[in-house]
Amino acid sequence: MQNQGFFVWPDAPEKDLYSVCVHCGFCLEVCPTYQQLGNENESPRGRVYLIKAVGQGIMPLDQAVIDPVFNCLDCRACETVCPSGVKVGTLIEEARGQALYAQPKTGAAKLTHEFFLHGVFPSPRKLGVARKLLRFYQRSGLQRALRNSGALRLLPKHLREMEAVLPKVSAQSARTALSVEVQEPVVQAKATVGLFTGCVMDVLFSEINLATARVAQRNQLRVKVPKEQICCGALQVHAGDREQARKMARRNIDVFLEAEVDYIVINAAGCGAAMKEYPELFNDDPEYFAKAQKFAQKVRDIAEVLIEVGFDPPKARLKRTVTYHDACHLAHAQQIRSQPRELLRAIEGIHLIEMKDSDRCCGSAGIYNLTHKEMALQLRERKIADLPREAEAVAMGNPGCMLQIKAGIQAGQLDMEVVHTIELLDEAYRLEREEA
Ligand code: SF4
Ligand code: SF4
Repeated sequence: MQNQGFFVWPDAPEKDLYSVCVHCGFCLEVCPTYQQLGNENESPRGRVYLIKAVGQGIMPLDQAVIDPVFNCLDCRACETVCPSGVKVGTLIEEARGQALYAQPKTGAAKLTHEFFLHGVFPSPRKLGVARKLLRFYQRSGLQRALRNSGALRLLPKHLREMEAVLPKVSAQSARTALSVEVQEPVVQAKATVGLFTGCVMDVLFSEINLATARVAQRNQLRVKVPKEQICCGALQVHAGDREQARKMARRNIDVFLEAEVDYIVINAAGCGAAMKEYPELFNDDPEYFAKAQKFAQKVRDIAEVLIEVGFDPPKARLKRTVTYHDACHLAHAQQIRSQPRELLRAIEGIHLIEMKDSDRCCGSAGIYNLTHKEMALQLRERKIADLPREAEAVAMGNPGCMLQIKAGIQAGQLDMEVVHTIELLDEAYRLEREEA
């Protein structure tokens, strides 16, 4: 890996990636931050130019570069339209890695970073403690008392809105609840899948993991849930902490390759994209680069794998008008657009209506809605304005988007359910069983 210009640390943005930008500007109009700010430096072309200037030693790696690099949502909308195939997301992530070396975190920022990104997220045990604390908060009466007393008004508005839409936390993670490591389908298996259960997904949305396992089994997939898996490391990659991300990627690569599955199945867009991109973390490690490639070839979103192996349309009817939000890391990072829609259309009674700019970022973007609350709020409001008002539910394939859009729906006082695509399919199969 070449280090160049003012990028003097390992894992620098690659010249081959930024030098292919032809400055055409096709990416400008689809970039959410450029749309909101109208500032070239806050556009994909501007960011690529700044990264290139640092790589060529024309500009130092200072705040003038670091701010636009961190203001990026990493939504990849620019990659979808770029005629030169510039991998803007990879460049941004690598540049953030350099920024972390150039300006190491100190004080409270360092403590927060290490507590969450090195401590809680990589540790299933600590995530289990977080689950218990959240569940205690929700079930002990503490949540009700704090809400009634008005004490939550002391929280910043964006955190208050997030608290208001926290799902009810289940007693067990899906990783634990699916205690039999192999879930056999009723009829002969078409393939074996390893279910990736995730971190936030399995704390806040373990029901969706369970629904994913049921839908996979219903469609003749043998489901394995390797117990030693951990968080995918996407948040660490987005934060520029590539060393920590590599540690986590190595663990998941070893665990899932050892499980000997045909596919590694994921129901969270951000995790799926990060895991398909694991090889990018190992450019300087030939052994793990080869393993990461083998691993990445097996990674599929649940909607993707169901279409690939073939699925049974549910025999029950589910009458509902539904719109679909394209999570950036499904639509732009993985080019998965038609498969979730195909699943929804296969459910008899579902009337699918498209929303305007369904693939424009909702502002969630990992922890962007916590670190860049103004921009995240503006994008959330645009997303809520684009929801067709006749829809009874909005479906999507990413937990972060679910929380962000749910908060927006609640703030806008709309009567619309927020669901994961797989939940609707699971509900239709449940009705099918009940009607049989
Ligand atoms: S569309 Fe691609 S080639 Fe054109 S300016 Fe944007 S990043 Fe560069
Ligand atoms: S990833 Fe998204 S926010 Fe970042 S430059 Fe590309 S379009 Fe803009």
